[in-house]
Amino acid sequence: MLDLAIIGGGPAGLTAGLYATRGGLNNVVMFEMGMPGGQITGSSEIENYPGQGEVMTGMELMQNWPEQCQKFGLKHEMNQITSVVKENDIFKLTAVDGKEYEAKTVLMATGSVPRRAGFEGEDKFFGQGISTCATCDGFFYKGKEVAVVGGGDTALEEAVYLAKLCSKVYLVHRRDTYRAAPSTIEHMKNTENIEEVTNVTVEEVFGDNTGVLGLKVKSKESGEIRDLPTPGVFVFVGRDVLNDPIKNEDGSFLCDVNEQGEVIVNLKMETSTPGLYAAGDIRIDAAKQVVCASGDGATAAVNIIEYIG
Ligand code: FAD
Ligand code: NAP
Repeated sequence: MLDLAIIGGGPAGLTAGLYATRGGLNNVVMFEMGMPGGQITGSSEIENYPGQGEVMTGMELMQNWPEQCQKFGLKHEMNQITSVVKENDIFKLTAVDGKEYEAKTVLMATGSVPRRAGFEGEDKFFGQGISTCATCDGFFYKGKEVAVVGGGDTALEEAVYLAKLCSKVYLVHRRDTYRAAPSTIEHMKNTENIEEVTNVTVEEVFGDNTGVLGLKVKSKESGEIRDLPTPGVFVFVGRDVLNDPIKNEDGSFLCDVNEQGEVIVNLKMETSTPGLYAAGDIRIDAAKQVVCASGDGATAAVNIIEYIG
């Protein structure tokens, strides 16, 4: 029986693993379906992690975190947890490969995945010219034109990153103001080869069997349709939380969640189900920052140790 099962190996899960094992729990497993590090490993640059001397990639920021946790005894299983149920005060976890685990406590630290924008051609060309990761796929468009869809921090930061590789970046946004941080907006506006295409809707991404050939955008003011001839389209329109493991077969949840499916927690990261905790981007009112997810993970672990004690 595990003292603690952590689901997710991003900043929240890794920090919880560090604090739980260093704080005395012996039997702690972190289930991570990919490589540990979380969504920040797909970021081309991060500059706001406290104490960080210089701008670095998300991968560079996270590279030492797993080793530090393992030093204190955190075990890592590369597996996807598909369901969590609670029976007689014990949590039963099932993984995608059918393996089952029992745990006294569970921490949901599953974060979020990129949201689809919903335009025509998005599903058809996903992975064939449409991407949600500039660090992973930007290189394929070196010297070519690309489009970035979105108006938040991710879209603007990644547009600036792509502008260093690509001949031109069309920044396509549905309004004429951005929700990104002011310094990020300024950085984008100072980048010569970014053309802002604002107040438009994406009508369609079109292509053929070689992949994407371009996208059609429609002005919200004039209704005019414009073709942007780009072989690459990067979509950054927000993220949806990953709460599947705590979703019951009847569609209800193992604990209280809000309308967006974000887990409701108190200041101890406790959910409405005793022994079940949530940390990081999955929880309500998350600031969606590495430092905050990490702080949540530490808070959860400290309280889990107390709960088990
Ligand atoms: P995540 O990082 O999403 O980690 C969750 C992990 O859980 C993932 O590794 C996933 O594979 C795993 N997982 C999910 N479901 C399961 C399951 N069922 N079984 C097993 N494993 C599972 N923040 C900043 O502070 N500064 C920045 O500059 C910044 N830039 C960003 C740039 C980009 C492009 C993106 C996408 C995000 C950025 N963020 C930034 C936000 C930051 O990355 C997140 O707030 C943070 O990573 C959240 O951490 P988390 O641990 O809650 O979740
Ligand atoms: P976000 O802030 O939710 O922004 C999503 C953007 O996509 C918005 O501009 C939105 O338009 C647009 N959008 C949403 N749905 C759309 C659709 N169907 N079609 C077209 N456009 C659509 O998402 P994010 O940029 O991924 O950021 C997520 C969180 O991570 C935020 O809290 C952010 O601050 C944080 N983050 C922080 C950093 C950093 O600290 N440097 C970097 C990256 C991310 P509207 O504006 O019109 O709603």
